[in-house]
Amino acid sequence: MLQDQEVHAAEFERTFIAVKPDGVQRGLSHRNCGVMRCGNHSTTILQPPMRDAISEIISRFERKGYKLVGIKVVVPTKEFAGKHYHALKDKPFFNGLSEFLSSGPVVAMVWEGEGVITYGRKLIGATDPQKSEPGTIRGDLAVVVGRNIIHGSDGPETAKDEINLWFKPEELVSFTSNAEKWIYGVN
Ligand code: UDP
Repeated sequence: MLQDQEVHAAEFERTFIAVKPDGVQRGLSHRNCGVMRCGNHSTTILQPPMRDAISEIISRFERKGYKLVGIKVVVPTKEFAGKHYHALKDKPFFNGLSEFLSSGPVVAMVWEGEGVITYGRKLIGATDPQKSEPGTIRGDLAVVVGRNIIHGSDGPETAKDEINLWFKPEELVSFTSNAEKWIYGVN
């Protein structure tokens, strides 16, 4: 039985998702303000802002039922960023975009699950946050196209290429989560 589940899990598609430098830096930290009471004193706690935008994005994929199988924080070189966006090399914004992607930490991830490439793009929303629906990541958390906080592969070939560019095979894990039978109905 376990073997069947493992085979099933291995057949799920994978996509490359990245929190771009603006997403990492934005923080969206207001939810992290808390008041700690100690005797008669109260202190406002401001936790480091970096954690929140990243966790917000991770939790949206996780809550849907997708599985995180690889994650790392990297500052890509401009050359590497150019490779990632090679399909856009003739666009006027290509140079600025490559420079921007290499300007700070990026959280690179691989997510796995049925339909994760297409549905991941739905969770992310339209490229231009002005056109992204409310409820999507870009719709809720970003304002302009040049700072739209997240990247997601746009198709199976791109997903394969981007995963290979950002991750070595040994940096990705294969496992069956306990929730899988409840998410997919596999016995
Ligand atoms: N981009 C930009 N200006 C534009 C269009 C795109 O700066 O007019 C940036 C934006 O950050 C976008 C990225 O280039 O996320 C890649 O563009 P693509 O068309 O592949 O959109 P995505 O797949 O990210 O939605």
